[in-house]
Amino acid sequence: HGRRGLAAEIGHMTITGEGDRCFCGAVGCFEAVASGTALGRRATALTAPGDGSLLRRLSADGDVSARHVVEAARAGDISALELIEAEAKWLGIGFTNLLHLYSPDLIVMGGGLANGFDLLASTIRATVEQRAMPAYRDVPIVPAQLGDRAGLIGAASLILWEGEPGAPLAMAQDEDNKDGATERAGARETSHG
Ligand SMILES: [Zn+2]
Repeated sequence: HGRRGLAAEIGHMTITGEGDRCFCGAVGCFEAVASGTALGRRATALTAPGDGSLLRRLSADGDVSARHVVEAARAGDISALELIEAEAKWLGIGFTNLLHLYSPDLIVMGGGLANGFDLLASTIRATVEQRAMPAYRDVPIVPAQLGDRAGLIGAASLILWEGEPGAPLAMAQDEDNKDGATERAGARETSHG
C-alpha cells in the first residue's frame, strides 16, 4: 500500500485549523487548502459570473480554475496576484511539513499549479526558509516540467499534484528509497539534537 498510503497521508496532512471542510471530513487538509483545485475554488468564491473581473472573463463566467488564476496573474490582475501569493504561502507551509516529515532530496510540483511555478516560487521559497529547520532550507523545489523523471532515479522525491487540475494529489517516491529516506530523516533529527 506504500505509495497510495503515503499519498493519502500527505494530502490530508493538516496545515491549518481553518478553511473548507475536506472530502475526508477534516478541516485544513493540505489538499483541501493548497491544491490547484482549492485555488480555483477560492477564485470562484471571490468573484461572480458577469462581474467583469478578468478571472471571470477568462473562465467565460464559469468556475475559475487554477490556470485562469495563473493567466490573470501574468496579466497583472491584482486579485489573481493576491490569490497566488496566498497559495504560495500555503504551499510553503505544506512543503515545510513534508521536508520535516519525509526528508526528500527534492520536491516536484505538478498539476495545474506547475505552469504558474515561476509566479509562486519566490514566496514558496521565502516561506520554507522562514519555517524549515536549517538542514531542510536548501532542498530544491521544482516544477514538474523540470523534474525529469530520469534524473530522479535514486533521489527520494515527493511529486505532488501530477496531472490536470482537479486530479487527486499524487505522490511518487522510489519504493527502494522510502526506507532510506525515513532513516535519513531519523538521522537528521538526531543530529539536530
Ligand atoms: Zn482531507
